[in-house]
Amino acid sequence: MNPLEIKLKTLTPIWTGGVETGKMDRLHETGIIGSLRWWYEAIVRGLGGHACDPTGNQSCPDKHGKRCAVCELFGCTSWQRKFKLLILDKNKRVFNIKPHEKDGLAEGTPMIWRFVELRSICDEEKWLLYQAIRIASEYGAIGGRTPRKPQNNKKVGGDFGLFSIQQQTGFPQEVSKQDVMNWSQNNGFRQIKPDNKWPNLRWFFFVHNQYLKREAINNLIGLSKNGKRITSHKDFQNALRGQRAVSKKIFSFETPPGRIWGYLPSQEMCQKTIAHLQQLEIKPENIKTGEEVLNEL
Ligand SMILES: [Zn+2]
Repeated sequence: MNPLEIKLKTLTPIWTGGVETGKMDRLHETGIIGSLRWWYEAIVRGLGGHACDPTGNQSCPDKHGKRCAVCELFGCTSWQRKFKLLILDKNKRVFNIKPHEKDGLAEGTPMIWRFVELRSICDEEKWLLYQAIRIASEYGAIGGRTPRKPQNNKKVGGDFGLFSIQQQTGFPQEVSKQDVMNWSQNNGFRQIKPDNKWPNLRWFFFVHNQYLKREAINNLIGLSKNGKRITSHKDFQNALRGQRAVSKKIFSFETPPGRIWGYLPSQEMCQKTIAHLQQLEIKPENIKTGEEVLNEL
């Protein structure tokens, strides 16, 4: 059997969540797994399956010991993750990061993610895992969801988390979306009433070939030009802006050819956001909804 591997290259630095003290020579993969789980949850919800919020007070297992379809693969209290992620360099050795990159991976780094099965992973889970990586790569970003402040010595304004997939092995091709939907709904996984605030791919929006500068983003999310004052309280703006401890839900990348993505708690707010993006001169042909991405699966 082919090992589950994705060969990829970073297009910007990737923040990996920091490195534990005393283990400075090894890449910390937790940030990447956390991001993959986040995309996997959004896809499962988008397909009508159930996914808990692992950071909230309704995380799995429930009082009957059941876990959701996402915890089944990624683990939760009393259930270990089914895989180990090895991050390998192009020679298939465990990645060594250079001291000045200790907080992450540099731009243009080739690497291999090897998913080592600790327990058997079914084809539906492999398919979902691959889609999570592919969608993050084609439309989104990984490795932490709060952009760092722009740095003076960077060519582009502090973008990070972008990567491109070059090759994959071991992920099944013959699984259909319908198979996965049936699997996620009919395997005795925990059913959980979704909170609209939990990311659902259906209500994501993606822009390619364009990006917005900070002032335009501020306009979109209802802030003054300098971002210091709230100037508009439309529902979609409140949602995109986030509140106090919750980070904003829109990300713009200057790295050519440009990218924007974000998510809303409802289809209606997603449509309002897209309408506002067009007022900011984002071309309709550059916009795609999460629903469209799901329909193409
Ligand atoms: Zn769960």
